[in-house]
This record gives sequence, C-alpha cells and structure tokens, in this order.
Amino acid sequence: GGRVMSISLEKVSYIYEDNSDIKKPALIDIDLEIGEGEFIGIIGHTGSGKSTLIQHLNGLMEPTKGRVYFEGKKSLRGKVGLCFQYPEHQLFETTILEDVCFGPMNFGASKEEAVKAAKEALKDVGISEELFGKSPFELSGGQKRRVAIAGILAMKPEYFILDEPTAGLDPEGRVQLLELLKRLNQEQGITIILVSHSMEDIASYVDRMIVMNRGRLEFDGDKEEVFSHQEELEQMGL
Ligand code: ADP
Repeated sequence: GGRVMSISLEKVSYIYEDNSDIKKPALIDIDLEIGEGEFIGIIGHTGSGKSTLIQHLNGLMEPTKGRVYFEGKKSLRGKVGLCFQYPEHQLFETTILEDVCFGPMNFGASKEEAVKAAKEALKDVGISEELFGKSPFELSGGQKRRVAIAGILAMKPEYFILDEPTAGLDPEGRVQLLELLKRLNQEQGITIILVSHSMEDIASYVDRMIVMNRGRLEFDGDKEEVFSHQEELEQMGL
C-alpha cells in the first residue's frame, strides 16, 4: 500500500518458455521502484534482461513470479509510453501530421483533439510547421526518429521508456535527442527511462542508473554511486 505515483516491481521474475525443458530465466527477483519525474538509465550487456524488464514496466509482459504495481493499481493504460528500437520503422502515414495523430486517435481522441496534441508534440520535438504536410520519408534519420517520438508524446504519457533511442544516429542527432528528453523531463515532468548498452552515451543525462546483469538488478542508485563500482562494471563488459 501507499505506493502512489510510481511503478513498482516486487520480486519479479520472468522465465521464457517456462513450460518447456529449456527454461530461460530473463529476470530474477527484481525489486524496483520508479518515482514520478525521475530520469533513469538502464544499462547492461546484450541478453542481460533490459528489454524484458521494460516490457514489464509498461505492462506489455506479466511476470512469471512477483508483482507489478502502477501507481498502486494493476494497470496504467496509456500513461506509460514505450519507444522500441528504430521507432521510425513504424512510420507509415502519408503525412507527418497524420502519422503523429494515429496514436491519440487510436486511444479514442477526436480528430480535432488528435491534431492539437500532434501539433504540440511535433513542436516539442523540434519539427517545424512547414514539414507537417510532408511525407515522413522525406526527413533525415534524426528527424524521422523525432517524429516517431512525437507519435508517442501525443498520447501524453507520464512515463516514457525508450529502448536505445540514439542507436544509429550521428553525434549531432544523438545530442539533440538526449537534450530533447532532458527538456521533456525538466519542463513537463515526464519520467524518462532510457535503455542503453553504452554508459558513455547516457551518463551525463541521467540521475539514476540501473545496471542489469544476467537477469539480475546488479546496481541501482545515483550514477556517481554506480560508477564507483568500476571494477565490477568492467567485469560485466560495461
Ligand atoms: P537485453 O534487452 O538486455 O538484450 P533481453 O531481455 O532481450 O535482454 O533478453 C534476456 C534473456 O532472455 C536473454 O538470455 C535472451 O536470450 C532471452 N530471451 C529474450 N527474448 C526471448 C524469447 N522471445 N524467447 C526466449 N528467450 C528470450
């Protein structure tokens, strides 16, 4: 009880192919609490359990064992936005504005409400109005990704989880994107959770760092505190 305004995991384990002989434990006994307004980085090696973990944070997956609470409830539909890797691969509408409207309309917004939310979201991600009527496919890589992110922001998530959001971007595109996320966190109070396999990339932006290792939550704390475990982090290949 009393866990308002947070996502919390209690002793969460997840096993792929639990009913077969080749059980694959992907999460083991995870205790985790995420508060409103935090800016968190989740790092870990490939296969350490990061993507399984974030799919529990937005309710896409349910634990094999343990419990997940969203603001004390069982579900937080629509409040947790999840941005998969290379989200621009999902752009498909004929214009940028229509593409960003898709999410809110799918959630039951009227056309008018959706257009309003989409315009705000596009402004937030730095896409100027003269581009709204263009095809998403005319944009640069960094712009496409920001349009895809606007598509999630238009649904007004309170928690925004992004899996490797800077993958494949050039250095300038990376900085722009991380700066954008910082602004969303600071100005709109959106809780941001970034997944990365590179500490370097996200270290100067996040406040709190979570380190996954072979399905376990190895470290969780202020980034300075986590960085002080340099030897262990190196052993994990980070
Ligand atoms: P990460 O995102 O850190 O790369 P994952 O959560 O994708 O880690 O994977 C954690 C573990 O679960 C790995 O051992 C991986 O092989 C296994 N795994 C992931 N997805 C599946 C799946 N669909 N079926 C079986 N095993 C899986």
